[in-house]
Amino acid sequence: MTRYRGRFAPSPTGPLHVGSLVSALASWLDARANRGTWLVRIEDIDGPRTVPGAAQHILDTLTRFGMTADEPPVWQSQRAALYQQAFERLQATGLVYPCGCTRKEIADSLVRTHARHTTLAYPGTCRNGLNGKPARAWRLRVPDGDAAIVTFDDRWQGRQVQNLATEVGDFVLRRADDQWAYQLAVVVDDADQGITHIVRGADLLDSTARQIYLQRCLGVATPSYLHVPVVTNADGEKLSKQTGAAALDASEPLVTLNRAARHLGLKLGEAAATSLDAFYTEAVAAWSDRIRRQ
Ligand code: GLU
Repeated sequence: MTRYRGRFAPSPTGPLHVGSLVSALASWLDARANRGTWLVRIEDIDGPRTVPGAAQHILDTLTRFGMTADEPPVWQSQRAALYQQAFERLQATGLVYPCGCTRKEIADSLVRTHARHTTLAYPGTCRNGLNGKPARAWRLRVPDGDAAIVTFDDRWQGRQVQNLATEVGDFVLRRADDQWAYQLAVVVDDADQGITHIVRGADLLDSTARQIYLQRCLGVATPSYLHVPVVTNADGEKLSKQTGAAALDASEPLVTLNRAARHLGLKLGEAAATSLDAFYTEAVAAWSDRIRRQ
């Protein structure tokens, strides 16, 4: 069997908050429960959204909370050559095309095409040429018909089915602002780092079919997936910097970790509040038990 390799892949758009701690903790516990390797990858590919100092703050907080990576962290901003190579491989398959649509044009055409539907897939306007418009982004063509259906079994959420053609459409690999898209970078990195198990927040469930399709186009292995419930605020919105999530109180790691474990449905004994070692011993056992019953 391939040796377990998991990862936590934060975007340094702000300090770690309770929501991202839950993802970090779940991926850590799953790696430890499987006697695997746990890596951290800083997803600082989105230049405009990256906050200076946030990555170091995240790494320091993880260390304070007792989660240290088994290999040095990898930084996406240093891996542009890998994304370029993968993009060229995809281009060679004939599935990549330039897109000249602005956000507004896409929104307008969606309103026309999907007036009575709720799904908002890119309608493929530039599939057969730019019609004189300048190229802005680069998209990957998705299959039509039954070939567009991607199915996978999520270890927490169960069977997932997405029709890439009707629910997503041809998606962006390289953005109009010349940045590599998250979908491409994440697939290239997970493959390059030999990641076998992805454990992350359920806000990324919807991206997974695109990533599996990209893995197939690139001829790399598909890891197993587990998406944990996201932490929401009082209005039911996912906690993020945009919804005003507060940075973690790093002065009380044990209190915060016990809260994160409760969010994952882990029932821990009183010893878990006494030391980091005791917390992790209990939490790894409770996680294994929880996943077995999932
Ligand atoms: N960087 C992404 C985020 O912070 C997570 C990527 C992943 O786990 O696949 O939302």
